[in-house]
Amino acid sequence: GTYYIHQRIQRSKRVILRDEVKHVLEPFELTDEQLRRVMANLNTEMINSLKSDGDIDKNDLGMFPTYVHRGPNGQETGEYLVVDLGGSNFRVSHVVIEGRNRINLKNKIFLIPHSLLLGEGERLFDYIAECLQRFIDDNGLNLNKPVDYTFDLAFTFSFPCNQTSLSQATLVSWTKGFSCTGVVGHDVVLMLQQAIDRRKSLKIQVVALVNDTVGTLMACSSIYRDCKVGVILGTGTNACYFENIENVPKWTGVRNQTTKQVVINTEWGALGKHACLDFIRTSIDRELDESSLTPNQQVFEKMISALYLGEIVRLIIVDLVQRSILLPGRMHKSPSLGRDYNIFLSLRGSFYAKHVADIECDTTEDLSVTSLILTSIGIQEPSYDDCYIIREVCKTVSLRASRLAAAAIAVLVNRVNLPSVTVGIDGTLFRHHGKFKKNLTRTLSRLVPRTHRLVLSEDGSSKGSALVAAVHRYTNEIATS
Ligand code: BGC
Ligand code: MG
Repeated sequence: GTYYIHQRIQRSKRVILRDEVKHVLEPFELTDEQLRRVMANLNTEMINSLKSDGDIDKNDLGMFPTYVHRGPNGQETGEYLVVDLGGSNFRVSHVVIEGRNRINLKNKIFLIPHSLLLGEGERLFDYIAECLQRFIDDNGLNLNKPVDYTFDLAFTFSFPCNQTSLSQATLVSWTKGFSCTGVVGHDVVLMLQQAIDRRKSLKIQVVALVNDTVGTLMACSSIYRDCKVGVILGTGTNACYFENIENVPKWTGVRNQTTKQVVINTEWGALGKHACLDFIRTSIDRELDESSLTPNQQVFEKMISALYLGEIVRLIIVDLVQRSILLPGRMHKSPSLGRDYNIFLSLRGSFYAKHVADIECDTTEDLSVTSLILTSIGIQEPSYDDCYIIREVCKTVSLRASRLAAAAIAVLVNRVNLPSVTVGIDGTLFRHHGKFKKNLTRTLSRLVPRTHRLVLSEDGSSKGSALVAAVHRYTNEIATS
């Protein structure tokens, strides 16, 4: 009777609903053909950016030579401090290298007050020096040391820098959540050194600036000889790889028997600056970009990395709510605005990559995990349909990110051009994010027939940065002996 008819109406309503959802999500679904076009565009940009320095502004990518010419050979030793700035955590480490696979690492995470990320750069560097002081004191690193002992420090700094030597690096632009004044265009090694020197009791020399991708590559290549690519899939995304110097027209440093290769920091997150990704960008991507700290920059990164995944999902949800597909009538009424209002729907950054991962992996029959998460961020009593749709959104956005990452890695695997390549990877997305690694691996196998393997780089950037300093010290000692 009536019940049956009601059911039928409900069911047909649901089909229409799903079609509308599909319509909204369709632009986020990428075909292999589109991925191959992304690969071709990235490859072209890489080649163009390796050419002479000429007009940097017309190229998308930094493709910065890093002054790292080889991986560790196992003979490097020494004691180093490492500061790691720009990932999900700010860390200070003490690394003792005693030989191949004999690396001891002790580290501590320090919180950076949010105000420091957006304030005056000098204050940020003073804070880093203060943390160094605390770390040395708390661990008694100065005990049993000569009075004038000076630590060598490697600075893992995960932002695009134009290097003119291992220990000279001008910040080109901030990325991710950072936006301090007075640092862009300045030598960040010098700024850190000056902050250290302002504290009379600190005796530290900054000997190397290392991008986190380079640290990851070095750590991994100390274990796998064929590791030639380092990738970060975390708060931000980027990669570096060993390139033959003869393929780097813009290299102005030495060219001789011992420097046949140089690690290039690609800064691939910047891809798309001059519209080469417009064919896959959605209106949501543009919206996210326009309200970000860095409009029209890091276009590729904003489609992939953990800092942005939650926000993409949030913007899609807002869109679906506005189309009355989601959460009909379930928003709080704002007394002052007199219309549906919810903090989650209005607040940029209120939905995290962690939420995306947890919802994507929700396999409970009633989607209770999803429901709990939604409730926790202020969406009252989501229905089963709401949860189901939001899970679809999370899956789609996360799948797109992993497939774009795969396309980019494929370009480097091809470029390295060895019978087999190991790719060292680090970052929260690769480590912890639900299905990301599985989807990435699967897509990559389709895109590159060449043998490759993806390896998680443990303690990557800190250990690896110490290795950069150690290789540098070893090379100098050989040269002067
Ligand atoms: C930065 C890169 C860094 C990457 C991963 C990007 O935003 O520009 O230098 O390697 O994030 O941390
Ligand atoms: Mg990191």
